[in-house]
Amino acid sequence: MPVEYDTVIIGAGPAGLAAAEELGRHSKKVLLVEKNSRIGPKVCAGGISPGITKHGFSLDFPHRVITSIIINTPGKIHRISLPEPFLIIADREIFGQYQLKRVLRYDVDILTGAFVKKIASNHIILDDRRIEFKYLIGADGSVSVVRKHLGLKTQKYGLTYQYRLPVTSEFFQLFFDRRFFGTGYGWSVPHDNYTFTGMGEARGEHLKVNIKQRCREWCNRQSYDLAGATAEAWPINYDYRGWQYDNIFLTGDAAGLASGLTGIGIYNALVSGLEVARKIINPDYACPEIKKILRQKKYHDRLLELLQAHRGMINLYHRILLSMTGNAFLKKKLVDFLF
Ligand SMILES: Cc1cc2nc3c(=O)[nH]c(=O)nc-3n(C[C@H](O)[C@H](O)[C@H](O)COP(=O)(O)OP(=O)(O)OC[C@H]3O[C@@H](n4cnc5c(N)ncnc54)[C@H](O)[C@@H]3O)c2cc1C
Repeated sequence: MPVEYDTVIIGAGPAGLAAAEELGRHSKKVLLVEKNSRIGPKVCAGGISPGITKHGFSLDFPHRVITSIIINTPGKIHRISLPEPFLIIADREIFGQYQLKRVLRYDVDILTGAFVKKIASNHIILDDRRIEFKYLIGADGSVSVVRKHLGLKTQKYGLTYQYRLPVTSEFFQLFFDRRFFGTGYGWSVPHDNYTFTGMGEARGEHLKVNIKQRCREWCNRQSYDLAGATAEAWPINYDYRGWQYDNIFLTGDAAGLASGLTGIGIYNALVSGLEVARKIINPDYACPEIKKILRQKKYHDRLLELLQAHRGMINLYHRILLSMTGNAFLKKKLVDFLF
């Protein structure tokens, strides 16, 4: 006998968990399928926009509040304080478990350690079981099987490489250097008992050395001790082509909703998960928050294309960013634009 659900969600990252919570809250019969045995861990630096509180998420999970930033450009260090917290930092496992706890308040079925490979228009096949759905949500990240099923290509994606260093640090730092990072950037993101140090860039930067080697060389130059560090890498899909395909929806990185310019995607994943759930609950719902995300993303991705086409402008772009931080009004606008 096939099992039937109103909605099957593939992937229990921020997008899938947000959708599961919203659908569960409205008493929909939901199955959330996750390939990993534990919900939460994901290659990510863990910077989250405090804007998530506007969407019903509380901040009652362990996190660090970032109110200042150090921006490193060749030969110069810029210390910038921000009037209000512009970012919180959370371990992705802790954040995933926080979201899971919220989902568990409702009657949502969850399958972990279950890798979905086969999808059809009204069912998935999982370990020879046929699971039928009225709606399917692809929340399965940058290498999405749902996106593949829909025949959508992913040509625009970011490459990343980061080390988890077993040391604590105080400062949130960004690094701009055209020769090293192209249009991308480096980061040092402090967590409670480790620090992520890494770099990201849009595919097609054509820098001479591959990202893995460059990241190692950069860490050596910064005198970061890589003994005991673990390395990780994962793509970031920012190739947006749509989010609704009849009864199949894409959210977060599966939809390519991350920013090409910053690589930031957690906020967009959470909010798109919520919005898609609302659309399933009420098909007339207009999804205004997805429209907002797409507007901001359009500006980010166009700016990235401009910089990629005119590489001589990258330094100028960094100078403009830094000069904006000298004025309180412009600094706020910049934070709103980027995060
Ligand atoms: C190095 C790096 C650093 C980053 N730093 C930041 C940052 O600081 N701030 C920020 O906002 N964004 C950051 N991002 C981007 C951010 O991680 C993603 O945008 C965000 O995780 C997207 O959420 P999601 O729910 O769409 O997908 P994901 O978080 O990728 O979740 C997808 C889930 O689906 C599961 N899954 C995948 N395929 C299947 C399958 N076939 N069957 C079952 N389950 C499946 C996966 O196991 C995973 O749990 C970073 C990304 C990288 C690579």
